[in-house]
Formats: sequence, C-alpha cells, structure tokens
Amino acid sequence: MLLGAHIGISGGLENAPDTARRIGCEVMQIFSKNQRQWKVPELSPSVAEEFRHHVKSAGIQAVGVHASYLINLGSSDPLLQRRSREALVEELVRADALGAVGVILHPGAHVGAGKEQGIANIVQGAVEALEATKALKAHLILEIAAGAGSTLGQTFEELEEIGRRVDRDDRLGYCVDTCHVFAGGGDFRTADGYAGMIDQIRNTIGLKRVEFFHLNDALFPPGTHKDRHANIGKGEIGAEPFRRLLTDPNFRNIPGVLETPLDEDEKEPYSAYLRDLAILRDLLHSKAKA
Ligand SMILES: [Zn+2]
Ligand SMILES: [Zn+2]
Repeated sequence: MLLGAHIGISGGLENAPDTARRIGCEVMQIFSKNQRQWKVPELSPSVAEEFRHHVKSAGIQAVGVHASYLINLGSSDPLLQRRSREALVEELVRADALGAVGVILHPGAHVGAGKEQGIANIVQGAVEALEATKALKAHLILEIAAGAGSTLGQTFEELEEIGRRVDRDDRLGYCVDTCHVFAGGGDFRTADGYAGMIDQIRNTIGLKRVEFFHLNDALFPPGTHKDRHANIGKGEIGAEPFRRLLTDPNFRNIPGVLETPLDEDEKEPYSAYLRDLAILRDLLHSKAKA
C-alpha cells in the first residue's frame, strides 16, 4: 500500500503537496475547497496547474479529494438534494482538474425517509453526477460508513447494492475506512477476522474496486457505530492488525491515508501524522513478531 495522510489546504491548495512530502507521504488526500461552504469561487486553471506541478515535483503518486460533508445524496429534501447533486458535480470537476484519482464521498443518510428511499436517492444522485461529468477521468469513490444515525453504505453489501444500481463500473470505486469497518462490527484484528473481511469484500464490491483506504484506529469497540478516529495504536484496533492490510498483495499500490487526530503542536502541526506514518511504515516493512 502507498501511505499518506489528509493534508489541510489553509496554507493554499498548491502548497499541500509539499507539506505532504515534508512529512513523508507517498499519497495524499485533501478537501479541494472550504468543505463547510456550499458555494466557493471556481478553481482557477492556474491554481489547478500549479497544484498538479507540485504533486509531480513532490513525488506524490496519487491524490484523493474528500467531498464536502455538507453533501447528502441520501436526502429526500428537494433543496438539499439539488444542492448535493450540484455540489458533487463541482467536486468531480475540481478533482479532475487537480489530477486526482477521484472524489471520496460518504454515500449519505436517509434522515428518516427510510433505507429504501435513501438508497434510491443516492443511486439517482450518483447516476446524475457521473452522467454530467462523463467526459472526465475522476472517479466517484464511495466510502463505507460507520453506521451512525441513518447513514447508508455501512456494510459492503449495501455499498454493492448502490454500486450495482448506479451501474457505472468504469468510474465507480470504493474507499475502505478501517475505523468505519471496525465501528460497523467488522472486527479484523485476528487472522480469521481479517480473512472474513476480505471474503466479504470479494463477494460484494470486489477487491479490484477498492481504490482508496482511510487508515484510522478507532476510539470505540467494534459494533458501536461510532465514527471516532484514533491515532494508530492508540485505539481499540491497535497497531499490529494493520500489518495484514498494509502487506496484503490485493492492495499493492493502493493509496491509504491517515485521517487521525492531530495535536496542537505549534512547531509541527502534523507531528501526530509523523508518528502514525512511522508506525505504519514499520508494520509494512518489518516482520511480524512471533
Ligand atoms: Zn474516512
Ligand atoms: Zn470517519
């Protein structure tokens, strides 16, 4: 697996690749804009070009763009639904201009309308966004949810159903977040547990469709559906179980990024990432303890 982290863009989008390189990332994830606002100025072609140039010069091998948390394709509210679909199109356009592999999206929540309706809304929204951007390369990458509240896509089966109904295999992929899988009850800490998770992926979305990983430890035990990330080795998963995933030949050269909590360290805002990346690298390259 190729390792990296989610990098902030407050210092300028075009500077994020150099920050990523400085802390030792091979890959990175960003928000392509202020993710708390619906409307932002358009991405200028010169900023996009500068960003791509910096990605190249910093040796970053893949960029993922995380979609705004405001987007909820699952909503049945007409205004939120329309805004979400429009915003997703914009996310795909920006990601494509930045040379990113795709937009990583939480599928959405039904907010009371029921699972069936929520999934139908997500499918319709995804189809529309992919149709509106069909000339682009950037993928839509659906992230498995931890399953809090009415969020959808919390199992590989549910993700598979959404993907099958969207029926756009050429530009649809999936993101596996280790904290979300674990929170959803996927306890992959043991060899058997890990094999079970791999079987589930193989039998649903397919191993080849996993295009991105979020590498997070989890603050709460499996099955609690709480989406609270912890630093690697500081949560309920622990560091060692990440070894099987990192060294799994099924996921060779697939990007995996940290979204773990950062300390308030004035000298090095990414000191927690530095520690977490060092732990992951060690697991990736050292032999398992007997
Ligand atoms: Zn995530
Ligand atoms: Zn999360």
